[in-house]
Amino acid sequence: MPARWQDLSLRLRLTFLYIGLLLVLLIALGSFLYLDTQNFLITTTLIRLQSQAQPGVERVVHPGGGPRPAPPGPASNGGAPRGANGNGPTLAEIAGFLADSQTSPETTAAVFDTGGKLLADGRTLPEQPISAPPDNARITQALAGQDGIYYTTAVGGQHTLVLLIPLRGLGSDQAVDGVMQLSSRLDLIDQVLARQQLLIIGGVLITLLLGTLGGLWLTGSALAPLQWMIVTSRRIAGGDLSQRVNLPRRADEIGQLATSFDDMVARLEETFAAQRQFIADASHELRTPLTAIAGSLDVILLAPEGDPETTHRMLSGMRRELQRLTRLTSDLLTLNRLDAHPSLRLQTPDLAALASEVAEQIKPVAGERQILVERDGDTRINGDADRLKQVLLNLIDNAIRFTDPEKGVIRVGVYQAGKNVRLVVSDNGSGIPPEAQPHIFERFYRVDKARARSSGGSGLGLAIVKAIVQAHGGAIAPVQSEPGQGSVFELSFPRDGASPASSPPAK
Ligand code: ADP
Repeated sequence: MPARWQDLSLRLRLTFLYIGLLLVLLIALGSFLYLDTQNFLITTTLIRLQSQAQPGVERVVHPGGGPRPAPPGPASNGGAPRGANGNGPTLAEIAGFLADSQTSPETTAAVFDTGGKLLADGRTLPEQPISAPPDNARITQALAGQDGIYYTTAVGGQHTLVLLIPLRGLGSDQAVDGVMQLSSRLDLIDQVLARQQLLIIGGVLITLLLGTLGGLWLTGSALAPLQWMIVTSRRIAGGDLSQRVNLPRRADEIGQLATSFDDMVARLEETFAAQRQFIADASHELRTPLTAIAGSLDVILLAPEGDPETTHRMLSGMRRELQRLTRLTSDLLTLNRLDAHPSLRLQTPDLAALASEVAEQIKPVAGERQILVERDGDTRINGDADRLKQVLLNLIDNAIRFTDPEKGVIRVGVYQAGKNVRLVVSDNGSGIPPEAQPHIFERFYRVDKARARSSGGSGLGLAIVKAIVQAHGGAIAPVQSEPGQGSVFELSFPRDGASPASSPPAK
């Protein structure tokens, strides 16, 4: 069993927290209900006691001082007791009368004088409640004139409510002459409260049980997708990148997490697949010239004294293959750098000027082909001049390789287009078949492998173009081409708004 709270499963922790909170709330609510009912019942009893006592007390006192003339009452002479001297009732007689008249089967009245001495106790029958023993401190308070003093206490094993009523006007003035103590049994109230307590405890237990089951079900169903994600991620970590969480569509946070997780794994799978493909293609591309060189070397080694012309041809072939290898490795290096961190040395080169420069440089290999550069507007852009020259070189080099050596015309147009600069490289060469057009920017893709390879292409030229354009925050339009008619490559670069550092690395 996990010893620490953090080691418990999220499901258990959530359930425990939820049950704890529920328990605290239920206890608070139950206690409030219980105390409120208790308070209500005792207050009701007090009001009843007070309203029952009021008329009796008023009958034996009068505001002017001295006892009232004898009202009809339970005394044998048919009125309030008279004093022994015949002038009026004594305090003890009034107390006796009051105690008798206020005692009922549920309540017993007792009267105390100003010294706290018991003057009279109205209990005559055993079923009447026993008077609470005098609480001197409280009686003193009542004698001091404080109304409404009450408390509960146990008397003879019975829960009893005690109410103290100060008696005023029994003597000659308004001073307090004594205290009447009413002791009333609370057994009925206690029965109601016990029932209430039972109901509350039962309710709390049932609610807690249902709450626990509900909480476990709720957390279980809410966290089940996470459990499934854990299983899936373990399988993925084990190497199976085809695994997906594939949760049924849900818009909550867990649904979003699962969707992002699946998207992330899909991208990882794509990246790994692309990497594997890239390594396979690169190895293949490297192996072809190496095999050719090895073959030529074998021929030379087999006949070291052989025909010099053949040897020369072999060596020239080997030189070509080595040149191809050099270009391939340098292209791979360029792509790798662009992938890893497309850091650009930003200046504001004039793209049209760069185009003229590259056209001039490449002329020696263009033969009879015409290279025409056209410009319009402000064609300066925020970019890396060397990288941009590489873009121009790759596009113009392709155009040269795929056009007729004599009739080939290559047009390089650089135009300002609002906040962008457009670069259009077109030729009247062999064109690209429609089914190949979407793929030509892929790494190592070549329409006609044998032909492209023999013309020195590594299949990485356009991939490098794409990576550089993306690093500049630019865009490449779909190539326009018709077999036999020629091709048009159109690129656009933001003039100054590019933030190459934040642009994603090219695939
Ligand atoms: P490569 O180095 O082999 O030329 P690229 O990535 O530059 O590789 O080009 C990919 C393929 O696209 C080429 O092999 C070729 O088939 C096709 N291609 C590129 N540019 C042109 C063009 N101007 N005319 C015809 N085909 C082209």
